[in-house]
This record gives sequence, structure tokens and C-alpha cells, in this order.
Amino acid sequence: MMAGEDADYIPSAALLPNDAEQVQELVRICNEYKVPIWTISTGKNLGYGSAAPGETGQVILDLHRMNRIINVDPEVCTALIEPGVTYQQLYDYIQEKGYKLWLDPPAPSAIAGPVGNTLDRGVGYTPYGEHFMFQCGMEVVLANGEMIRTGMGGIENSSSWQVFKWGYGPYIDGLFTQSNYGVVTKMGLWLMPEPPAYRPF
Ligand SMILES: Cc1cc2nc3c(=O)[nH]c(=O)nc-3n(C[C@H](O)[C@H](O)[C@H](O)COP(=O)(O)OP(=O)(O)OC[C@H]3O[C@@H](n4cnc5c(N)ncnc54)[C@H](O)[C@@H]3O)c2cc1C
Repeated sequence: MMAGEDADYIPSAALLPNDAEQVQELVRICNEYKVPIWTISTGKNLGYGSAAPGETGQVILDLHRMNRIINVDPEVCTALIEPGVTYQQLYDYIQEKGYKLWLDPPAPSAIAGPVGNTLDRGVGYTPYGEHFMFQCGMEVVLANGEMIRTGMGGIENSSSWQVFKWGYGPYIDGLFTQSNYGVVTKMGLWLMPEPPAYRPF
């Protein structure tokens, strides 16, 4: 999937944590022994390397087992999800609950997921298509294993973590997109209220 030699993109191992605490432990160990990590969420980065690492020898941190939908709020139109959640999974959940909410998937289809696509600064095709703009609140494991929550998540028991970006402290979410400064273990996003009618053209 990369325009280059396959030999340049061979991982040395793959790690599959079940939760954020395991991510913290893995990152601490890798940091201690200076083992480079390449993080993927659903690993469907088609056309840009798929699930392969940026360089041979890196360890893949594959988060697809962390696929819990923690919350979808049909009134304020927000979701809080783990990295392994796919667009299909979130769509099915919304349909099952009967919520009048729309998702904005990218072209490679519902097998990809909102977290990986947003951290890749991906795009979709509705008014909610600029995915980073519609992201709200992250939980991130830093290189030393410490965990932070961005935005209103910095306040304990905050009820507005997924609702409002600007109320509390510096805005650092962009640091974790197209970068390797942290491992995002939860992400909030805004969902589009179902329009009364639509016409593609
Ligand atoms: C025909 C075709 C059409 C496409 N059309 C589109 C399109 O319309 N819009 C679009 O946006 N893309 C498009 N793509 C590109 C790509 O397939 C998508 O962006 C896809 O959603 C990315 O895969 P993913 O969501 O599984 O992300 P992943 O593969 O999980 O992650 C992508 C990258 O993000 C970073 N990352 C992922 N998870 C984390 C994490 N938890 N913490 C820190 N960093 C992380 C890593 O660098 C990782 O390599 C297209 C590709 C093809 C082949």
C-alpha cells in the first residue's frame, strides 16, 4: 500500500491492548527501552500504508480491541468512543437506539473508524465533513504513560467534555493529529442531527 519497498515497512511486533490502562503500561515499557511505537485504531488507512508502520522495526500498537461506544447523547448530539469503534458499529448503535443522528464517514467506507480518520485529519462529505473540527475532547496516553484529558475533560466529573471545546485551559488537541506525541484512547465527536430532507448532487 506504500509507494516504496515493502522491506521499509515491516513491524517488529504487534501489541493489542484491551483498555487504556494496558496502553499506559505498554507505553511505559516501550519508553523505558526506547522501543518506537506506531499506533493504529482500525488500521484501514488505505492508500497511506494501511496498518503498516512508518518505518521497519516499529512496534504496532493496534487498538482495534478497544471498541466500546461509551456514550451517545441524542439531545446534544455527541458521542464518546474508543479507537476501535468503526463507522458501521456506531451507525448500527444509532439505528438500534432509534436516534435521529447522522454520521459522516470518509470514502473508504464503514470499515474505518472516527478516531483513526480524525487523527489522520480525514474528511467526509456532509456539512460535518471536516472531521477534526467536529471532534470534541480527547483522552490521551503520553509517552511516559501519563494520561491526560483535553478541554473540559480536565475538570473531574465534567458533564460538558463532549459539548464545549473552549471553556478550560490551553487547546492542545491538534498536537495529537498526524503526530506521534500521544496515544488517543478516547475521543468525543459531534453528530449531525438528521435533516428533514436531503438531496445529493
Ligand atoms: C479509494 C480511497 C478513498 C479514500 N477516501 C478518503 C476520504 O474520502 N476521506 C478520508 O479522510 N480518507 C480517505 N482515504 C484514506 C483512508 O483510507 C482513510 O482516511 C481511513 O479512514 C483511515 O483509516 P482508519 O480510519 O482505519 O485510521 P487508522 O489506520 O487507524 O489510523 C490512521 C493513522 O492515524 C494515527 N492514529 C490512529 N489512531 C491513533 C491513536 N489512537 N492515537 C494516535 N494516533 C493514531 C496513526 O498515524 C495512524 O497510522 C481513502 C483511501 C482510499 C484508498
